[in-house]
Amino acid sequence: MLEIPESKTISRQACTSLMGKTISEVFTATHKHKFAFFNGDPAGYEKLLKGRKVKSTKGHGMFVDIYFDEDICMTISEGTNIRYYTSTEPPPEKYQLLIIFDDGSFTAFTVAMYGGIWAFKGVFDNPYYQGSLNSISPLEEEFDKPYFDNIFNNATKNLSMKALLATKQRIPGLGNGVLHDILFNAHLHPKRKKSAVNDSQKAELFNSLKVTLKTMTDSGGRNTERDLYGNFGGYETILSKNTLKNPCPNCGDTIVKEAYLGGAVYYCPGCQPL
Ligand SMILES: [Zn+2]
Repeated sequence: MLEIPESKTISRQACTSLMGKTISEVFTATHKHKFAFFNGDPAGYEKLLKGRKVKSTKGHGMFVDIYFDEDICMTISEGTNIRYYTSTEPPPEKYQLLIIFDDGSFTAFTVAMYGGIWAFKGVFDNPYYQGSLNSISPLEEEFDKPYFDNIFNNATKNLSMKALLATKQRIPGLGNGVLHDILFNAHLHPKRKKSAVNDSQKAELFNSLKVTLKTMTDSGGRNTERDLYGNFGGYETILSKNTLKNPCPNCGDTIVKEAYLGGAVYYCPGCQPL
């Protein structure tokens, strides 16, 4: 799933590999996926995209945008994988969309559980997309302690740490993946209520949020997610499916997983008491 570190990483890689290339062909899905979302009929994508030249890219929240000339843009979200191939590589067997560039290189878009592959001219009228595009990222300096305090203070006192950080788009792109290490580094249990977090813990959470996301991004994303070239990111997750049942690196207690708020939470019972 794309979250802040991955959308930034893939955008940076797409900038390197796609910049200045012109789309020569567009192929629609080999196997239609029920939860692959398009802007209208993807059969119309070729007309919109053919001949368009990549001008820039942008990663924000859980989206990666590729901007072309003539005000055309493609954006992918959350569960969509974009993969770049050189002209000598074979295409994957299954994809939801395949775009070939003038030099023979191509990108394939696949969807695991669900994801958007939207192409559009001008403005994309989607509330999640616009919310993400217009928000301040934790990677930016403007996301400072007063900004975070405002998000924190506006939440109801019974809200848990997971709900506060990873729901309602309070912080676009902070999802149920990056959440775990942020809370681990802040020594907070995902179910800890806001009312049970004191000022020094709140400061620790802010610090962890900034540092953890920056480290993940600087490392090319998490090691549970693949980048534009199909490689796992360089950030070694402390809490993830890769480390479940391992001993905690801090205290040696066993890392556990629980279902909570529409997704699994991972934590160390020793370091993150409820
Ligand atoms: Zn521990």
